Amino acid sequence: MSKLNGKVAVVTGGNSGIGYASAAELKSQGASVVITGRNSEKVQAAAEELGVTGIVADVSDLSAIDSLVEQIKGEFGTVDILFVNAGIFQPAPVSQISEEMFDHQMGINFKGAVFTIEKFLSILKDGASIINLSSVNAYTGMPNTAVYAASKAALNSYTRTAATELAPRKIRVNAVNPGPVYTPIFGKTGMSEEQMNGFAEAMQNRIPLKRFGQPEDISKLVAFLASDDASFITGAEYNIDGGINVNPLVA
Ligand code: NAD
Repeated sequence: MSKLNGKVAVVTGGNSGIGYASAAELKSQGASVVITGRNSEKVQAAAEELGVTGIVADVSDLSAIDSLVEQIKGEFGTVDILFVNAGIFQPAPVSQISEEMFDHQMGINFKGAVFTIEKFLSILKDGASIINLSSVNAYTGMPNTAVYAASKAALNSYTRTAATELAPRKIRVNAVNPGPVYTPIFGKTGMSEEQMNGFAEAMQNRIPLKRFGQPEDISKLVAFLASDDASFITGAEYNIDGGINVNPLVA
């Protein structure tokens, strides 16, 4: 398939998990892809594997986003697809939320997303597609996710307003809300392997389709929203979660 031939796509946090799979899918559909991430070695290794351009840029550092935009402008001119994917998951119970954790998680998941879009607007083509990677956690009230969930709920709200304001430029802005997906994100939480296995088993039993998502499940939806097949879709949110949001009470 080459639905994205001639398009330039940027995937933040594209060296791992959902971002990596999406970069591969966007490339396989014909796009020229740029991935970003924080760690130079990981970004370069992933870029080589994927055969795409890799640029180091921390989304919580606004000047790093400025230089990312400058580099992409120099190399590609304009951008057609912006996948705002970079994010972290730092679980903590409500009584143990530190200011540092709040600022870090909000700084990447919400502020980082907002300013990525803010700064890319100058090089986004009219008619571009922005896809924000949110989470079903925005709605589920799952224990230990108060700040993470709020960062994603804020992103969903922002998505609706941005969609309205950017419509005159025919720029579409949509959000994707995955349920649990097998990626390295859970290994970065500091949970022990035993805790992670317990969490995975409990989650899996509650998902009507009885499995975690795979990054490739999400990447197909991202590529669809990026394409002209989705040209009448903006301000929308897509749950992609094996049905967990339909029936969260009874497994
Ligand atoms: P991951 O840890 O495999 O990938 C996260 C990516 O974001 C990495 O490439 C990392 O380098 C990048 N990143 C993190 N902080 C960054 C920063 N400050 N600047 C630039 N890049 C940064 O995890 P994933 O599961 O693929 O997560 C991708 C997105 O999906 C996140 O926004 C996450 O919240 C969301 N999400 C994940 C799940 C899940 O179950 N895995 C479910 C719902 C939503």
